[in-house]
Amino acid sequence: MSKVVKFGGSSLASAEQFEKVKQIIEEDSERRYVVPSAPGKRFPKDNKVTDMLYACYAKAEEGEDFLPDLELIRGRYQEIIDGLKLDLSLEEEFRTIEKRFREKTGSDYAASRGEYLNGILMAKYLGYEFIDAAEVIFFRENGEFDGDYTNLVLGERLKNCERAVVPGFYGSTHDGRIKTFSRGGSDVTGSIVAKAAGVDVYENWTDVSGFLIADPRIIKNPEVIDTITYRELRELAYMGATVLHEEAIFPVRKAGIPINIRNTNAPQDRGTWIVGSTGKKSKYVITGIAGKKGFCAVNIEKDMMNSEIGFGKKVLQAFAQNGISFEHMPSGIDTLTVFVHQDEFMHKEQKVMSAINRLTHPDSAEIESDLALIAVVGRGMKSTRGTAGRIFSALAHRNVNVRMIDQGSSELNIIIGVSNEDFETAIEAIYDIFVVTNL
Ligand code: ASP
Repeated sequence: MSKVVKFGGSSLASAEQFEKVKQIIEEDSERRYVVPSAPGKRFPKDNKVTDMLYACYAKAEEGEDFLPDLELIRGRYQEIIDGLKLDLSLEEEFRTIEKRFREKTGSDYAASRGEYLNGILMAKYLGYEFIDAAEVIFFRENGEFDGDYTNLVLGERLKNCERAVVPGFYGSTHDGRIKTFSRGGSDVTGSIVAKAAGVDVYENWTDVSGFLIADPRIIKNPEVIDTITYRELRELAYMGATVLHEEAIFPVRKAGIPINIRNTNAPQDRGTWIVGSTGKKSKYVITGIAGKKGFCAVNIEKDMMNSEIGFGKKVLQAFAQNGISFEHMPSGIDTLTVFVHQDEFMHKEQKVMSAINRLTHPDSAEIESDLALIAVVGRGMKSTRGTAGRIFSALAHRNVNVRMIDQGSSELNIIIGVSNEDFETAIEAIYDIFVVTNL
């Protein structure tokens, strides 16, 4: 057995956090490959080193004096080095960074130094080999991640390496420029390293004890999901639930490697397991609830719509022509509704409506705005009768008017449309009925 362990910024924000991390790694000899983020916030109002690097580089690019900013960043690392009593100097590294900033090497280079330096520090602290991600993680010229080539080079490199630290978030293009993933991209690096090393588990250590059943800003102390499938996670993440970078699941999912989300500050907690498939029943019928506000519905009516071949296609064409993607499209006999993101749709609404009128000649076409969509996700729904009924009676009890229902054919989720103002109440009602009362 072997494991990749990725640690997020808050797990590495100070010397005390580094000490916890070392203990976690050394507790289990299977934890062989370590992927660190850059130091994050030590307290709520603190700055993340990545943000400091972006800001510092912006000054360099404008020709302003950036040295005081760089000095603050250097201070963050020095504080950790001193706290851990490490025999390590980053002077030379900072001289190089200063020089490259003056040469305006690019903001990706600048941001990547957060992980690069933290990787050097971590490798020294653990006594592990340091592998610069620029030598093993590659991007094509068009900016896309080059998965095949990376897997080959990184796999080969790790084969000869018992234990190593590979900094997260960046790699390089084939012509040697540093390039980063989007923000939060160390999660993606962890997944790539897990696949290339062919490990058994990818542990992702953060500051929460796993993936929560519902948004803690709406539900007080929601329960942690014990086990979730990749497909369920994708549905919830798409609807706004966040823990992992969206792209982090793809490399490990393909390789069939489970992800275990863990809490650096509560390592005794089991966390959440994200798996390809499981025979384990989830504790509740539903696995999770997520949702987003800010949708518009375009309601189209036309007598005999059901017998008009190609009607739906023409409607969607009106959206496609204007570069608008649709979210859901529930339909009745002579009615059809298209859900779109309000902010995308707003400035093109009249163009889309005239295209609908021109292409489909409806009896009526009306826009309804300020709607929210809620996804109730769970592999358990397939084998349980009455889930939809329970959702709707719970919502009715709380006086929430349901504007739309859409159950995917996978029976993995039920999507409910409500007005923006009912959003929080609806989520509370659903959480209550399935988790709190667990009827
Ligand atoms: N440090 C980077 C960020 O703040 C990447 C990461 O932490 O995953 O976005």
